[in-house]
Amino acid sequence: MSTSHYDLAVIGGGIIGTAHAYHAAKANQKVALFERNDRPVGATIRNFGMVWPIGQAPNRLERALRSRRHWLDLAEKSKFWAPAAGSLHLAYQQDEMEVLTEFTDLAGAQGYQIEILSPEKTTAYSPGVKTEGLLGAMYSDTEVNVDPRQAITQIHAYLAEQLGVDLYYRHTIKEINYPKLQTAKKSWTADRIIVAGGDDLSTLYPELLAQAPLQRCKLQMMRTAPQPNNWQLGANLAAGLTLQHYAAFAQCKHLPALKARIANELPAYNQYGIHVMVSQTALGELTIGDSHEYDYTPNPFDKQEINQLILDYLHRFAKAPDLHIAEYWHGVYAKMMNGATELILHPEPGVTIVTGLGGAGMTLSFGLAEEVILEEKRLTGA
Ligand SMILES: Cc1cc2nc3c(=O)[nH]c(=O)nc-3n(C[C@H](O)[C@H](O)[C@H](O)COP(=O)(O)OP(=O)(O)OC[C@H]3O[C@@H](n4cnc5c(N)ncnc54)[C@H](O)[C@@H]3O)c2cc1C
Repeated sequence: MSTSHYDLAVIGGGIIGTAHAYHAAKANQKVALFERNDRPVGATIRNFGMVWPIGQAPNRLERALRSRRHWLDLAEKSKFWAPAAGSLHLAYQQDEMEVLTEFTDLAGAQGYQIEILSPEKTTAYSPGVKTEGLLGAMYSDTEVNVDPRQAITQIHAYLAEQLGVDLYYRHTIKEINYPKLQTAKKSWTADRIIVAGGDDLSTLYPELLAQAPLQRCKLQMMRTAPQPNNWQLGANLAAGLTLQHYAAFAQCKHLPALKARIANELPAYNQYGIHVMVSQTALGELTIGDSHEYDYTPNPFDKQEINQLILDYLHRFAKAPDLHIAEYWHGVYAKMMNGATELILHPEPGVTIVTGLGGAGMTLSFGLAEEVILEEKRLTGA
């Protein structure tokens, strides 16, 4: 039964708010989760569903791997699809192979679970790899796929039914005056309040968020219809462009040469921040993306030029029985522009803002939320 006082109130039903609600409820706290829509429809359902430790910088790997364990545990408990499919970074150019080999030499000692594969061995991990011109690949064992639409629905049901979390959909929290939080019509109190509003920078504490090095980023995405005959992609696929995107590879001395070649050969890809990855959904569709365009007010209209660039690059390294696109969309997230992996603020005692996870929110969510809830418990002695 819903009440008007909670141990913890969480604002935002995306993966970050949900992960905080999960860890607190698991620790026997009475939790309320407020979401302004009648289900989450933000970045959390618009992404690839890739839990992606391989992309994280060495100092975030432990958090990502811990988060991965929570994802797998929750998938079992809340009954959603979460294959530990791993990932392949494919190399068709010598400089790509050099970065992958250098990274593999460095990263084994840092805890990444990776190996370099010959072209012949690569295809054993995915029938979706184009072998023409393939020099080799790096396989990583740690990547997990979820279908974000299914996962968030199932997790919310689990929170409500098994952990006693009160879900308040269609409730926009307009104001917080600790310990009170309120919609236009009703108010509640809570011992602690977590604000996880994603890229909403204007409803709660807008002045404070305006001072943070946060930027909105728009990403264009697309999806095929379910593949025929239950065709399975296997490992998630990425290629050369991805090596200049993720923080994990920034430590490689061979990276600047690769970046210089891409800047010279593929300037339009850099102009729109495009790198190309493919994952599969629970229904067998292939999710393909993405681009990165930074603006406080993202352009509501999508560029066909970007979609075409993504597809052109995809055809360099991936194949599948049916690559016709059934759906296009874009997502927006808030990202830290100073290299930090998240923004945590305490606008008033008892209130914590958690946002700014950029393109790693699915990957880091449960690990970060576990740390935040533990720290709050330590501070309050609750
Ligand atoms: C296209 C795309 C691809 C991505 N791919 C990946 C990936 O493969 N792997 C990965 O790790 N990450 C990926 N990401 C990043 C990841 O999706 C985000 O980091 C993450 O979803 C952010 O979660 P969030 O809960 O902060 O935000 P959101 O999902 O946006 O959720 C915030 C929620 O808060 C609600 N809200 C806001 N203000 C209020 C209020 N005042 N009252 C009530 N409710 C409110 C909103 O309605 C929303 O539902 C991708 C992102 C995009 C856009």
